[in-house]
Amino acid sequence: MNYREFGKTGEKISALGFGCMRFPEYKQDEKNFVDQDKTDEMIAHAFENGVNYFDTAPYYCNSNSEAALGHAVKNFRDKILISTKCSMGDIKEPGDYRRCLERSLSRLGTDHVDFYHFWSMNKGSYDDVLLKNNLLEEAAKAKEEGLIRHISFSFHDSPEVIKYIIDTSEARGVKMESMLCQYNLLDRSNEEMLAYAHEKGLGTVAMGPVGGGRLAAPTDLYAKLTGKPSIATYELAFKFCLGNPNLNCALSGMQNLDMVQKNIKVSSDDTAFSTEEWEQLGAAMEEIKKFSELYCTGCKYCQPCPVEINIPRIFEIWTYYNVYGLKDHAKNMMKDYLNHGGKTFADCKQCGVCEKKCPQHLAIREHLEKVCKILCE
Ligand code: SF4
Ligand code: SF4
Repeated sequence: MNYREFGKTGEKISALGFGCMRFPEYKQDEKNFVDQDKTDEMIAHAFENGVNYFDTAPYYCNSNSEAALGHAVKNFRDKILISTKCSMGDIKEPGDYRRCLERSLSRLGTDHVDFYHFWSMNKGSYDDVLLKNNLLEEAAKAKEEGLIRHISFSFHDSPEVIKYIIDTSEARGVKMESMLCQYNLLDRSNEEMLAYAHEKGLGTVAMGPVGGGRLAAPTDLYAKLTGKPSIATYELAFKFCLGNPNLNCALSGMQNLDMVQKNIKVSSDDTAFSTEEWEQLGAAMEEIKKFSELYCTGCKYCQPCPVEINIPRIFEIWTYYNVYGLKDHAKNMMKDYLNHGGKTFADCKQCGVCEKKCPQHLAIREHLEKVCKILCE
């Protein structure tokens, strides 16, 4: 296993982190349970092979993940780092922070959490829940009492909000010590902010290092770039993530022993990407996109659309479908977009405002019509 300095936390973290959101489960009397024997076996195997970072959350696996993890690590708890999270949805008043933490400690069967995250932060939840309820102060108190060892956040918003969270917390006297965000070969939007977080001394963890499905184009590209045989998708995805010098750990939500073994092999591999190879592959991926018939840079100049069609998001999903060949994955993304009330070409009022503002001079409406038809089928 490869280990990295985890920001300035003083910890060394394994390059592979165990995401505890996909433990094997079974159903009994309409209720979901984690298969504890299988989970124990997977976790023990990961630990014996050097994985030392285990990331769970109160609502993973139908709220059973923390307890299952606690059970699985009870014989080596002090040799690993446990990360869990505080949901802003559970906070109505400052004291709720402590109540959530105590619930997690009890489920995990431990007296401290190593990395306690403000979960899934965005600008709204940071301002309206975290700051309003003085949760930075609550976290600092819990740290002083030894209930948590490091203050962290996980993140889902536009990249610049990462800087806002890091800087605002610091200005209020509480430093964020590590960050968990989305980052992978296909979605590199947080790359600049990962560099910023790293520079500010935060440990950095990526979730979702594998885009899912088959990435034919990039794996062939790897072979062309390096002169080595083409490699499996998941291997390329890991190598790319871990090749980023500003990233300390790639989390994988592992659901069976085979996956654990494969991921351990990849992250123990001493032929990891050099920074140069990482840069080359990133640049080559951009090239592939440029030569596709629809090259949207995601600049968002076309926004806002008067009927709130999220044009860059739809075109991004289309890139997954058309350029990377991840058809099922893209259709699922589109379903998710629609389930969250996302608007499509069917809502377009044909005002043409978006096209006037697009620096790529894209025939947005024409593309939207075609893309929405295929993705919404
Ligand atoms: S043409 Fe359609 S997609 Fe473009 S801004 Fe107008 S309503 Fe939105
Ligand atoms: S303005 Fe053009 S390039 Fe920019 S996000 Fe909109 S469609 Fe894409």
